[in-house]
Formats: sequence, C-alpha cells, structure tokens
Amino acid sequence: MSSVSYPFIYECSACPDGLTVTREDARGLYPDPDSPNAPEVVLQERGWMKGPDENLYCPDCGKAAGR
Ligand SMILES: [Zn+2]
Repeated sequence: MSSVSYPFIYECSACPDGLTVTREDARGLYPDPDSPNAPEVVLQERGWMKGPDENLYCPDCGKAAGR
C-alpha cells in the first residue's frame, strides 16, 4: 500500500507555472519513490523552492525573490 499517489502537481505561488512530478521522475532521483520525501527531492532538483506559509516558487520566481 502506497502513501504517495502520483502524479504530484505543484503550482507556483507567484506565476501560472506548474510542475508535474511523476513516479518515474521520483524514482530517478530518490531510491524510494513511495516515500513522502521523494516528490520534494524532485522539486528541489528542478530548482523549485519553498517559501514561508507553504508557498512554492518556480525557479524563475525563486530567482526574482533573490534566494
Ligand atoms: Zn513562478
């Protein structure tokens, strides 16, 4: 039984950009794609970052925010 259901769809808090993380993406970057950590690792690998209040920023908006 899996606690993680793919695909994960993330949306940037500052622009209409989005990112879809599939099980294949997660498996390529994380040994256990069923771990709740796996999609977050993919997210970081793609340059996305978390801000305060669970906001999520795409690479462009993250850069614009100076982080
Ligand atoms: Zn953005």
